[in-house]
Amino acid sequence: MWSGHSCPPSRLSSRLDPLESALRGPEAWPEARSTGRGQSRAGAGAGAGQGGKSGGKSARHLPVPDGPQLCLAWNRHATTIEVVQSKRILVTGGAGYIGSHTVRLLLEQGHEVTVVDNLSKGYRHNVPANILYKLNIGDTQALKELMRQVRCQAVIHFAAFISVGESMREPERYFANNVAGSLSLLTAMVETGVKHMVFSSTAAVYGDPPSSPIPETSPIQPVNPYGESKVMVETMLRWFDRIHGLTAVCLRYFNACGADPAGRLGEEHEPETHLIPLLLRAVITGRPVTVFGNDYDTPDGTCIRDYIHVNDLAQAHILALDYLLGGGVSDQFNVGTGAGHTVMAVIRAVEEVTGKKVPYVIGPRREGDPPGLVAASGKLREKLGWEPRYTDLGTIVEHAWNFARKQAAPKT
Ligand code: UDP
Repeated sequence: MWSGHSCPPSRLSSRLDPLESALRGPEAWPEARSTGRGQSRAGAGAGAGQGGKSGGKSARHLPVPDGPQLCLAWNRHATTIEVVQSKRILVTGGAGYIGSHTVRLLLEQGHEVTVVDNLSKGYRHNVPANILYKLNIGDTQALKELMRQVRCQAVIHFAAFISVGESMREPERYFANNVAGSLSLLTAMVETGVKHMVFSSTAAVYGDPPSSPIPETSPIQPVNPYGESKVMVETMLRWFDRIHGLTAVCLRYFNACGADPAGRLGEEHEPETHLIPLLLRAVITGRPVTVFGNDYDTPDGTCIRDYIHVNDLAQAHILALDYLLGGGVSDQFNVGTGAGHTVMAVIRAVEEVTGKKVPYVIGPRREGDPPGLVAASGKLREKLGWEPRYTDLGTIVEHAWNFARKQAAPKT
């Protein structure tokens, strides 16, 4: 068994509800056993970490008293050993879809990760229990205590509500959670001296853009409270930089999709509103999906989106962290591949991967759907050296399908 939560006991233990034991067996998180914070602290020695076997990269910590931890990371597909500096990162919303993929990548790359998630949308099974704190980001005091305890160097901030439609019905929840919650987090960072944030923003900040592909310089004109809530946080971040010297990278996501290539994590929204998981569900259940409009001015009449694999998105966060911790100035970047696909093209890709017909009906347009959203992603590539690995739509769908099938399989 891998160890349970191993942070030093303090007042936090009652306030923060650290999860006591692993909810999944050790096979779910082999890398975490060798690289997670609990192990490296509890083990207290160079021999504490043993390289994980299932990830491409494994890591072993070399503790340096009161200094940065060094870590040997080696890739079993390569012949080199990299010496990388292990970073202490706090991840809010790390039990959610994009957050959990990023946490997994951070752990695989040898970093010390602390996850804060209130589990309102995320799942316990997405992260190792010994790094998960069930906590609301609105609890500034508890965040401060945790930040001091784990001595984090930077925050990756995912925790937010993400549904455009819901934000049109209940804007107050979006401003309370996404804006006031982020303000609480920023306040805790300022008061504990944490100086860097990678912020989970969205292409929705551009609203209905005048042209596509969309550069970062496109007008900021959100058309729903969800997009507006992200703009408000981006605005706060500019002022926190100017006044408190807190640097931030805002990553404006296009359509996150796909799943961990090994099938260990994937998209589990409830209710699900995103196209690819809905199409896969339709294949499994036989219940048709509604295509929202086929009378747009696009080659086949359906909307065009830029589908970005969740692992490529996760990697963008890690590059942004390196950039900020290396002294980079605050900036905003689109995260998309630069290629657009219509809804019908996605349906064809699903049919090819699954070998089954997708049951669907054509319905009316969905309110607030822009006809085309494609990223101009040159800035991220040029400035941070990002290169998406899974640009083929078929591969993205295949990874999502592997996960969906696993989820649908009867549990033994
Ligand atoms: N879409 C659709 N039917 C659905 C869900 C989505 O036709 O049941 C379309 C939607 O209109 C958009 C694309 O699929 O053009 C991607 O939608 P999704 O909700 O996945 O992401 P969004 O682009 O809204 O962030």
